[in-house]
Amino acid sequence: MFEIEGNQFHATQSILVEKGWEILHSAEKDATEESQSFDLSTLKTNSSAECIESSVDKKKTKPPKYFTESTLLSAMTRAASFIDDPSLRSKLEAKDKESSDRGSIGTEATRASILGKLASNTNLISIASEKGYKEKVWKTTKQGQEFCQALPKEITKPDISAMWAEKQAFIKSGDLTVEAFIQDVDSYIAERIDALVQHGINITANTVPCPACGKALISRAGKYGKFWSCTGYPECDKATLTNKVNLTLRQESNPWSVSINVQRATRD
Ligand SMILES: [Zn+2]
Repeated sequence: MFEIEGNQFHATQSILVEKGWEILHSAEKDATEESQSFDLSTLKTNSSAECIESSVDKKKTKPPKYFTESTLLSAMTRAASFIDDPSLRSKLEAKDKESSDRGSIGTEATRASILGKLASNTNLISIASEKGYKEKVWKTTKQGQEFCQALPKEITKPDISAMWAEKQAFIKSGDLTVEAFIQDVDSYIAERIDALVQHGINITANTVPCPACGKALISRAGKYGKFWSCTGYPECDKATLTNKVNLTLRQESNPWSVSINVQRATRD
């Protein structure tokens, strides 16, 4: 770590310990390679020097890759890596010290069903093909993102799993009773619900507005099958939709994405 005029910079260096197979090419390489690179290991803490030259490389930051089912499954085996706080991270990692997992959530037997439950929540998650991916990618919908935003960080990150993993270790060692742990979890949930009651939750309803009054339409089952009805009924009865409005579901996986097509009856 360097500081130049108040700005902090990181520097990394790779050191070749053994040449390996590259030794075979050493003759031709040595001719071109000049050892003019600076050795960072010669620096000491708090040493200062003059900055002679600087240049800026123009590069584009890449967004993180989308998750697929297999990358999600593997991420669950090393969930601790998503925890920012190092001491908390080590608490989740400690759980797996006798396995090949590195701070996992779920178990080999439960992970697939956890993902199945997540996938069935089509209001929050969409799973679709994406250019450049062999597998289908998992994305949060707008509602899914709003839902995550309404949750505290310890839930959207694996932090809470780490906190509970530590408590489970305390139960194992006899330093905490199961009852005390359950009470702890109960009061945590009660706190979350209280916060929700106090602050509410802001999630965009992705519904179709009634063409007559603008209130949301909902699908109801009637004598002749399903039909779209206005939530303003009985004040708004115009919205009992029959042949005047044509609702087409764009895709089965996202029932909230609805296109509306109003056909006006023309009288000549
Ligand atoms: Zn209406």
